[in-house]
Amino acid sequence: MNTFHVVAVKDDNKAHLVMRRRGQSPRGLAFTIWRALTDIDDRDGALDARQAAAAVKWVKKKGWRPRLVRNKYPFIMKAEGVVLPGDDALLTKLNRIGRELRRLVVVKSGYRNNYQQWVLRMRYLRGEGNLAARCCRSFGERVQHSWAACGKASESNHSYPPKGRAVDCGILLGSGYTSIGNVPAARKLMQDYGLCLEVPGEKWHVTTGTTWRS
Ligand SMILES: [Zn+2]
Repeated sequence: MNTFHVVAVKDDNKAHLVMRRRGQSPRGLAFTIWRALTDIDDRDGALDARQAAAAVKWVKKKGWRPRLVRNKYPFIMKAEGVVLPGDDALLTKLNRIGRELRRLVVVKSGYRNNYQQWVLRMRYLRGEGNLAARCCRSFGERVQHSWAACGKASESNHSYPPKGRAVDCGILLGSGYTSIGNVPAARKLMQDYGLCLEVPGEKWHVTTGTTWRS
């Protein structure tokens, strides 16, 4: 069964989960974004295809922007080319943080393969990019090398087998994107859920854990 989720995004980028209301319509196609109602069918907003199509219409009619996703993480928005990591616990927590803040969490880097890590590491060694973990141990730590010669053994949490356990992300505020570590309410929720910013100076690199360095 395909599971869909719909989020309603308002002009100030406030984002609300769309949920079904029970008993309001014979076909079960009445919706709300108002969590405190007693007659809502929450289930984290899971909808089937027909309900999702109706929810999108309902959101548009309200004058909001609908965001329809086909996974369990409707508050997680991938930047272009991003592959989400395979770490379901991490994504579930980030999605929950987005839902509670009523904000989309924008992921700028998720899973990385060895090649992508080599590109970032070489960029870093040339002084052109952010700190990136080593791509292999075939050479000295600071030695630039070709992809052909690379040992292809990324040490980044973004590559941790099988599909990575880190994301670089931020929050979409009314004023635009900011790194997640710049938002006090997000930091609080990350602490509550056992997520942390473990890399000094990187207020965007989120992993599971309690090691706070940013
Ligand atoms: Zn290498």
